[in-house]
Amino acid sequence: MEKRSITILGATGSVGRSTVDVVLSHRESFDVVAVVGGSDAGALADIARRLGARFAALADEAGAGALADALSGSGIAHGAGRAAVMEAVDHDADIVLAAISGAAGLAPTFRALKPGRALALANKECLVSAGAAFMRRARELGVPVLPVDSEHNALQQALGAGLVEDVVSLTLTASGGPFRTWSAQEIAAATPAQALKHPNWSMGAKITIDSATLMNKGLEVIEAHHLFDVEPARLDVVVHPQSIVHGLVYWRDGSITAGLAAPDMRVPIINALAPAPRRLDFDAPRLDLATIGSLTFERADDVRFRCLALARAALVEGGAAPTILNAANEIAVGAFIARQIGFLEIAGSVEAVCERMAGRHAHAPVDVEEAIAIDEEARSETRGAILRRGSLLN
Ligand code: NAD
Ligand code: MG
Repeated sequence: MEKRSITILGATGSVGRSTVDVVLSHRESFDVVAVVGGSDAGALADIARRLGARFAALADEAGAGALADALSGSGIAHGAGRAAVMEAVDHDADIVLAAISGAAGLAPTFRALKPGRALALANKECLVSAGAAFMRRARELGVPVLPVDSEHNALQQALGAGLVEDVVSLTLTASGGPFRTWSAQEIAAATPAQALKHPNWSMGAKITIDSATLMNKGLEVIEAHHLFDVEPARLDVVVHPQSIVHGLVYWRDGSITAGLAAPDMRVPIINALAPAPRRLDFDAPRLDLATIGSLTFERADDVRFRCLALARAALVEGGAAPTILNAANEIAVGAFIARQIGFLEIAGSVEAVCERMAGRHAHAPVDVEEAIAIDEEARSETRGAILRRGSLLN
């Protein structure tokens, strides 16, 4: 198999590190062009050295000196700040894996859309915030968008079993998060430490909290809508605590094609990075269903987990509602982690801001600049709403 050149955005994060593992275990298949990190210069330099990357970019300008020190003698070119991140994205690569967390990934991920390359997308916020503009641009430039999110990767594979016009609906599974069996009263008192303990997946902080509120699944419904061009009414969610079945395609003939895998992000990453229909080896023990014993499913409860309903409502409302929802959620999650608001106030703040801004932006953002402008407006509305609620804990 011919070597493919790859750039990794968000290389020091959870998905980024899983990608580094995959690339290191398939050295013969990949050449690493550039790696991008947020603020940890030492970790980025270490990854760049291990991968033999040609260029390393740190988003945080203040880390320039530390990055230069950590890379001295390596021969790896480097830079810090926004321009350096964009320079990394502009280096020629066959495939860019986009795994920056949150709306911070919007500008570099959009910029990564270039003719002649493929984009392996983990940064779901990009599709939530500016999905229509992102997919339109990808189509215009002929850039395949390969889903890395495990549910969407499973759905993409399952969709290969038939024709798009024969699909009745798509189902995404949700683990249910750490509070699946908690009462409403218990959930109301949940602390950041409890919310950060995910039962099945080890992930970055923001997505882990999103998994506890089920906002993550709401964002994923919006992500699926854009990736697969399926309307909201045909996108379902089912809770599946074992996280073995990730996505199901329901066909008109009554058949269902499901995508199963161990809850390990390396699986969808390897799948997205392989030159389809070829597959690469996954060097971990095979998933043993007999050992797992039972796979269970239950309905998602959007009364205890309001964020799921809020995300769905934003998708149905359309316009910039998902952009606003996404920005409000990022601020609210940050405030919860900082212990400024309680767990239920994440949904409360998102709902308040969505209501306050309803009708202000009737159309979906036409490009990344407009998405970022609306995102910033919604962030400042959310900060204001959180302060006004007078709910700052001591
Ligand atoms: P993380 O917080 O662990 O990592 C985020 C990465 O982005 C880090 O490398 C960080 O340094 C970098 N970063 C942050 N701000 C940046 C900026 N302004 N410019 C450049 N880089 C910046 O997050 P994660 O859990 O790896 O998630 C990354 C993305 O993948 C998210 O959009 C998430 O929703 C999605 N995702 C994650 C998982 C998972 O298992 N972790 C699964 C599916 C989808
Ligand atoms: Mg997912």
